Amino acid sequence: QLVLGIETSCDETSASVVAGGRTILSNVISSQVPIFQRFGGVVPEIASRKHIENVMGVIDQALGEAGIGLDDIHGVGVTYGPGLVGALLVGVAAAKTLAFAKELPLLGVNHLEGHIFANFLAHKDLTPPFVALVVSGGHTSLVHVKDYNQFQLLGQTRDDAAGEAFDKVARVMGLPYPGGPEIDRLAKDGDPTAVAFPRALHGQNNFEFSFSGLKSAVLNYLNQVKQKGETVSLPDVAASFQAAVIDILTEKTLQAVQVTGASTVCLAGGVAANSRLRAELTVRCQERAIGFYYPPPVLCTDNAAMIACRAHYKQQAGLCSNFHLNAIPGLRLGES
Ligand code: ATP
Ligand code: MG
Ligand code: FE
Repeated sequence: QLVLGIETSCDETSASVVAGGRTILSNVISSQVPIFQRFGGVVPEIASRKHIENVMGVIDQALGEAGIGLDDIHGVGVTYGPGLVGALLVGVAAAKTLAFAKELPLLGVNHLEGHIFANFLAHKDLTPPFVALVVSGGHTSLVHVKDYNQFQLLGQTRDDAAGEAFDKVARVMGLPYPGGPEIDRLAKDGDPTAVAFPRALHGQNNFEFSFSGLKSAVLNYLNQVKQKGETVSLPDVAASFQAAVIDILTEKTLQAVQVTGASTVCLAGGVAANSRLRAELTVRCQERAIGFYYPPPVLCTDNAAMIACRAHYKQQAGLCSNFHLNAIPGLRLGES
């Protein structure tokens, strides 16, 4: 069973062919990051236009690299939310056109479920149930993945997402966009105990997160040091900020394991590429004999392979979309 996946929710135009839900035959990712570096973030209008320019070429390339033609495909999966509405519409229109022309099943995919399913591509033996920590540019959620098509949202952030906090803090530190990988790198030379940044909602018996206070604390710290005329150690600030984020993510994830009785944890989303987060959870899960999985960096950030994987499991369960499928910018996890 070959599924073509299409992803255009933000600033990556991507298409992929996945066989049997688990084997990537191609995964073409055309990133607009270089375009948005001069703006310090994504400009939605420009992103939509770039998707229109790129999408058919990217699909052609994905089919070509997989060594197949459109007639070999068994289903078309596409991200229909959450994301930027104009960006999502480009992928949805392309997928509908292909599905209609070739009389193929159309599978609308929730982008966040896609991020979780990247783990199935990276780990062939992984099966539900497990707890997923989704940490991306726009979301921070703990999810109990009970089965391939059954998700329970345990809790999420009240304000900023973890990735958003990384990007905003990096920006005020003068680092290029996107800031997550920059802070990850810089923090390796810093002392994570140098500055005691706050851990919001720490020790509370819930699965909610809050990162906007931490972001402000870093801003205030940088301003205070500057006012005193002292020099800031950017590696120390990066390491201390990162430690605060990871402490909270780790604590709440282990709590979710306890409450759900799960024996496996999976990381998902762009921040899942963070080397300290991976290292910390590796140790903490090992201590508790909990299985711990994460995708390689290229499958953590936006890509169409994860969308094709999710689409495969929807198709297996008969969860196909019809041609009324539309972009839903605020689509929530488990709502699909
Ligand atoms: P969403 O999936 O919520 O719609 P998105 O698709 O924009 O948002 P992703 O592509 O999943 O987000 O992830 C991008 C985010 O991951 C950015 O905020 C980026 O800074 C962050 N990120 C990437 N690599 C790392 C890293 N090594 N450490 C920390 N953050 C990282
Ligand atoms: Mg992106
Ligand atoms: Fe994403």
